[in-house]
Amino acid sequence: MARLRATPTVTSTVTIEPPRFDRPEVEIRASARRTKTGTAHWSGHRIVVQIPARLRGRERASLVDALVERLMTQRPSVNSGDAGLEARAATLAELYLDGVQAASVRWSTSQRRRWASCSPDTREVRVSTRLQQCPEWVIDAVLVHELAHLHEADHSAAFHEWANRHPRQGECALYLEGYALGLGLRIESDVEVG
Ligand SMILES: [Zn+2]
Repeated sequence: MARLRATPTVTSTVTIEPPRFDRPEVEIRASARRTKTGTAHWSGHRIVVQIPARLRGRERASLVDALVERLMTQRPSVNSGDAGLEARAATLAELYLDGVQAASVRWSTSQRRRWASCSPDTREVRVSTRLQQCPEWVIDAVLVHELAHLHEADHSAAFHEWANRHPRQGECALYLEGYALGLGLRIESDVEVG
């Protein structure tokens, strides 16, 4: 079978990758006008990636991954709305915590010695606005930690079984330890107290 000659008339295409637990929705614009480099930018809660249309398969996927990962470390605080935080918490609860429901999930500027908190009585989860600059997976791990308290109030083995359903709790604790040092903060517990 004759192979069609590759000509520069390749059309541009747009594809959408749905959000995953560790990254938001990614819109991929493959442009025939691009030859080598790719770029990416935030558009609301979505990342838009522009890549050369000629890339295929693994080469295409790894360029997209690299662009997305780089951008996620430079995320501006577009994640600063309570509605987005609450929606994320609901998604994570479905994924990891058998759909447990908080009464409310909000950003808080008054968390001085903790990253986040959960009141098992009122079922309110609060997350320090200091975490808005952190990568999304860190915020996710913190949310899962707090939501797990709706199953188990203390830090028992049963609690950790719930919390560790999110695969990056250990990394998150290390990350936050370094983040606290960088900010000159004294945090009373790895993630939260009470
Ligand atoms: Zn805790």
